Amino acid sequence: MEAIVLYPSPAIGHLVTMVELGKLILTTRSPNSISIHILITTPPYRVDDTASYIASISSDSIIFHHLPAISLPPCATSSVPAHETLICDVLRLNNPNVHNSLRSIIDKNYKIQAFVMDIFCSPALSVVTKLNIPGYFLFTSGAACLACALYLPTIHKIIDKSIKDLNTLLTIPGSPPIPSSDMPKPLRDRNNIVYDSFVENSIELAKSAGIIVNTFERLEPRAVKEISDGLCVPDGPTPPVYCIGPLIVAVAYNKRAAGMHSGGDNVSKCLTWLDSQPRGSVVFLCFGSLGLFSKEQLKEIALGLERSGHRFLWVVRNPPNSQNGQTVDLKVQAGPDLESLLPDGFLGRTKDRGLVVKMWAPQVAVLNHDSVGGFVTHCGWNSVLEAVCAGVPMVAWPLYAEQRFNRVVLVEEIKIALPMDDSKDGFVSAAEVEKRVTELMNSDSMEGNSIRVRAKDMQIEARAALSESGTSRVALTRLLKSWNQS
Ligand code: UDP
Repeated sequence: MEAIVLYPSPAIGHLVTMVELGKLILTTRSPNSISIHILITTPPYRVDDTASYIASISSDSIIFHHLPAISLPPCATSSVPAHETLICDVLRLNNPNVHNSLRSIIDKNYKIQAFVMDIFCSPALSVVTKLNIPGYFLFTSGAACLACALYLPTIHKIIDKSIKDLNTLLTIPGSPPIPSSDMPKPLRDRNNIVYDSFVENSIELAKSAGIIVNTFERLEPRAVKEISDGLCVPDGPTPPVYCIGPLIVAVAYNKRAAGMHSGGDNVSKCLTWLDSQPRGSVVFLCFGSLGLFSKEQLKEIALGLERSGHRFLWVVRNPPNSQNGQTVDLKVQAGPDLESLLPDGFLGRTKDRGLVVKMWAPQVAVLNHDSVGGFVTHCGWNSVLEAVCAGVPMVAWPLYAEQRFNRVVLVEEIKIALPMDDSKDGFVSAAEVEKRVTELMNSDSMEGNSIRVRAKDMQIEARAALSESGTSRVALTRLLKSWNQS
């Protein structure tokens, strides 16, 4: 029996996209002729509780293999390293487990046609190469970000300083000019402990048998063309690129981490409330699976929303425990006490036009609800694609990972978002929140109208890409054919 092995990085956003790829392969090839094997890393920290999600997906055709837990050297766990550092450490140490797992799959008489890994899992490329299995990447962000990743070793070569010391616009093939301060954080500082891992990931990316990207050609035509033309890897061949997206989860999955998800409550709460709101009138604010704000920032958002006078649906979490401006949640969070976090009387004053939910909302269903007219997002790529598929324009408020880069792409290149302008330390004033929400939601705002039209156009293009003869389906067929020949 033939098998495809998928190796996601532990964060739920990455896992879910990988699973969607697995499902797509199964719907395209007969499930009786092929099975999908997904390697699950057990990190020594908690990114999320994915157990219930995995249980809901497991079947005879989608088989999960849990790799043994990795213990990190004490120095890596004594302070609180950035989540990228932890992920890179864990995935590097995972290689023997990946090898053993692949051997056991082969020993059960499976022929592994391809191994598809996340960018963070790039150390595994050497493992599969030794086993003669073609190694592919699934790039879970957009093509412009892929262009940047492929070009990183060149940036490393031609610029001899840390990007953070440059204060300039970077010229990267396939991308609009990128302010150096908008490059993903670990890439800005050569002394950052994971900088070398990122450069290494990029080198491995270019050595792979192919790169599958969760985007579609009409969303990012320049990036797709310039990557395919070889401009991002000037000193060697560029692997074939397959834009097969948008791959998104049609049905909201549960984030069951204790307290993180209020059972099914938030689903019916949000959707019932939206049912009673006028068409296109609600702005939705939601910041991914990890995004957190300080108490001061939550207050500014509340004031901005209140002053805008617009209807809103806002997902609120507790501020991070540490006071170091961290915007990521790696620990299980308790449900927030909204009364004490938000300005005095805010909930009462806005109760007729606003709904604040704790921790988690069924984002895909919300974005596709008729009452929603705009989305304030942290620019995680899944959120971006979900908004594109729903035809909803955005305000881009990046928090972590490659999200500042995505903001530039969404605002300057694709033109489906307005920027949320923040201060150097990332703080956004109530006045800026009010201004951007007003521009996004007012039907007589020029800025809002232009991105509204583009967002609807991109929704149509996304559907076209996924149709029978659309570019993403053609790319998928090309990919599967190449596996059949391997
Ligand atoms: N999500 C959700 N409800 C929430 C927060 C997030 O359904 O309250 C989902 C969202 O629809 C998306 C994913 O979680 O599919 C977040 O992925 P993304 O790539 O946008 O951001 P990440 O969490 O990886 O930073």
